[in-house]
Amino acid sequence: MSGDPDVTFLAGALERRLTILGSTGSIGLSTLDVVAHARARYGANSFPIEALTAHSNVDVLAEQARRFRPRLAVVADERRYADLRHALAGEGIETAAGPASVIEAASRASDVVMVAIVGAAALEPTLAAARRGATIALANKECVVAAGDLFRDALDASRATVIPVDSEHNAAFQLLDFAQSHAFERITLTASGGPFREWPRERMQVATPEQAVAHPNWSMGAKISVDSATLMNKGLELIEAHVLFALSADKLGVIVHPQSVVHCLVSYCDGSTLAHLSAPDMRTPIAHALGWPTRISSPSLRLDLASVQHLTFEAPDLERFPCLRLAQDCLHAGGLTPTILNAANEIAVAAFLGREIGFLDIAGIIEDTLASRHRDMAECPSDLAGILAVDAEARDIAHRFCRARAA
Ligand code: NAD
Ligand code: MG
Repeated sequence: MSGDPDVTFLAGALERRLTILGSTGSIGLSTLDVVAHARARYGANSFPIEALTAHSNVDVLAEQARRFRPRLAVVADERRYADLRHALAGEGIETAAGPASVIEAASRASDVVMVAIVGAAALEPTLAAARRGATIALANKECVVAAGDLFRDALDASRATVIPVDSEHNAAFQLLDFAQSHAFERITLTASGGPFREWPRERMQVATPEQAVAHPNWSMGAKISVDSATLMNKGLELIEAHVLFALSADKLGVIVHPQSVVHCLVSYCDGSTLAHLSAPDMRTPIAHALGWPTRISSPSLRLDLASVQHLTFEAPDLERFPCLRLAQDCLHAGGLTPTILNAANEIAVAAFLGREIGFLDIAGIIEDTLASRHRDMAECPSDLAGILAVDAEARDIAHRFCRARAA
């Protein structure tokens, strides 16, 4: 690092080797934006990269690899391997393909693993990073929801540290005084309310994928955008907070806050409530997670409260947004109900994005899937094989309900 005193102070953070799982998605791109900003500001050696992985977008992955010089580039879809090898021929960058290679990328020595894969596909790579004691910058929430106990056990058994990247949880992580955990009274996650916050149900039934992904405040991948429109995103986040912070369901709440300026509120037993504020820009929590415990500069938008003017809050409407209620039920029921909730949601959202079902069918399919599995739930083991089996079965059942509704 250069002799700039600012940089000398930060060297410990900036020298950390980084692996990005899901580098071609919304969070992946924002992460590389933070890295580019750090390299421009603090020196070209900042955040050397061990591995970049993507599902199938070889063009973007190869372009990122040429620019950011990882040691390894992985495409999960084996059919794209020849294209990746061709695109990176002569660059001196190792290439690999297949889901096992994504797990291998997470297993290779690096200091920080950014988990920016969407869906439960992140589970095994995240467990691999946890087992070797990496610092995990965790954007993905589905793997925490699908495998809560397993995830917690893997963390407890290793030296791994999780820094939440999901904006509400990153805010909570900054607000929670873990030495005073007896004093935590309530954590309230804020929800923007999504694009259909004021829509009546009749209009929601005919909502198109384009309308659902047009989020008012955040620019995100398609799946999480639909989750924000159904409020399932907030439901998944309640379960995520329960697992990450070991807080009981009765201490976790949700409030709708359309401006997305306040991300989380933490209330203590003396009556104090602390809030975390920032402009709605994921590069802020990403920079916090990459630098932690050091603060590093981020290119993110800065908060200008004078132009925001009003911060408003309202209770969520569980009638119009039943997905939040379903997730709350699973949070209370525990066991593998969150695994089923998450799997059914992934299938239903994909079917909605594929125009096979209507927007309100998403909640119906999840509810039906949960009901059809409810009897034998208690018997399912919560080890990896048990979770993967329940996840696969729930997906099959949800697929069937999707086909029935599409017919
Ligand atoms: P995205 O769809 O834009 O990107 C997903 C990334 O995962 C891509 O790089 C894709 O290639 C990769 N991927 C997809 N399926 C894969 C598979 N089967 N195997 C390996 N890689 C695969 O998604 P996103 O919006 O960046 O969200 C990523 C995760 O972060 C999600 O879990 C989401 O809930 C969470 N998150 C996102 C935001 C946001 O602002 N986008 C905010 C908070 C949390
Ligand atoms: Mg969030």
